[in-house]
Amino acid sequence: MTITYSIIAPIYNEFDNLPELYRRVKQVMDSTGETWELILVDDGSSDHSTDRICELAEKDPAIRPVIFARNFGHQIAVTAGLDYARGEAVVIIDADLQDPPEVILELAKKWKEGYEVVYAVRAERQGESWFKLLTASLFYRLIYRITDVKIPMDTGDFRLIDRKVVDVMNNMREKHRFLRGMGAWVGFRQIGVEYKREARFSGETKYPFKKMLKLALNAITGFSYFPLQVATYFGFVSAGIAILTIPVVVIGRLNGTQAFYGQATTLIAVLFLGGVQLISLGVLGEYIGRIYDEVKGRPLYIVREAPRKE
Ligand code: UDP
Ligand code: MG
Repeated sequence: MTITYSIIAPIYNEFDNLPELYRRVKQVMDSTGETWELILVDDGSSDHSTDRICELAEKDPAIRPVIFARNFGHQIAVTAGLDYARGEAVVIIDADLQDPPEVILELAKKWKEGYEVVYAVRAERQGESWFKLLTASLFYRLIYRITDVKIPMDTGDFRLIDRKVVDVMNNMREKHRFLRGMGAWVGFRQIGVEYKREARFSGETKYPFKKMLKLALNAITGFSYFPLQVATYFGFVSAGIAILTIPVVVIGRLNGTQAFYGQATTLIAVLFLGGVQLISLGVLGEYIGRIYDEVKGRPLYIVREAPRKE
C-alpha cells in the first residue's frame, strides 16, 4: 500500500495532548480521502506518554510509534520521524497543537500545485511570553542575516516536505541539526503559507532558554563562519589601533606629556585583549567540539522500539 501523507509529531512529555492530537489529525487526514500515517516519536518521555502512544498504536494501525531509548532532543526526534516516514508528502507538526492540524490541508494544496517544500509562517502567535516572542524574533532575524542560506523568517519546523526532498535530507547525517536550515539549504521549489500559531493545548513548553540557546548555536555554527571571522576582524582593528597609537605615544613622550603614565591604562588594555582572546578561543572551541562529535560517528539516536523502516 502506498501512503500519501506521513505526519510526524515529536513527543516529549505530552501525555494530555496525545488524544486530542490524534483526534484532530485523524479528522483532518480522513477528510482528504487519501492514505496517511501518524508517526509519533517518543523522545524519552518521563510521564506516561510512551504507554499512551502504544495504546493508540494498538487501536489504530495508522499510528507508528518510534520510541527512543532516552531524550535526544526535538530536532533529532523529527529526524527519526523523517527516517521512518513512508509517505509521498511528509508533514512535521508539534504535538502540543500549537500548529493546528487543519493547516495541513492548506500545505497539501500548495504541494498539489507543485511546490516541494511548503513551510508554515507564523503570522500571529498566541499564548507565549514576551520573552519567548522577543528571543524568537531576534533569533530569526540574526540567523537570516549571518547565515549563508536564506532561512525564511518566523518559520518553525511545521511544514510539508515532498518525498524527493525527504530523501535528500535523510542523507544529511550531521549531528548538530537545524532542520529549518537544512531544509533551506537543499533548494527545490519552496513556498510559505501563513497561519496563526495557537497557544499550547496543555502543559508547559519543553524548550527552556537553555535548549533555545543550544538550537541557536547549532543554527549559527551549522550555517555560518561569521563567528570565526569576527575574531579576524577584531584582530585587524586592535592591531590597527596599536600601530596608530605608537607615533602618538612617542611624540607625546618627546614633548614631555604625562598622559600615558600609569598602570590603569595598561591593565585595562591587557584585560580587554585577554577577554577578546578568550572569547575567540571559545568560539573556536564551539566549532572544534562539533568536528569532534562528527568524527566520533555515533548514531544520531537510539530506538528502544520501532516498526520496521521498510
Ligand atoms: N520536544 C521533543 N523533545 C524535546 C523537547 C521538545 O520531542 O527535548 C517536542 C515537544 O513534545 C513538542 C515539540 O517538540 O511536540 C515542540 O516543543 P515545545 O512545544 O515545548 O516548544 P515551543 O513550542 O514552546 O517552542
Ligand atoms: Mg509548542
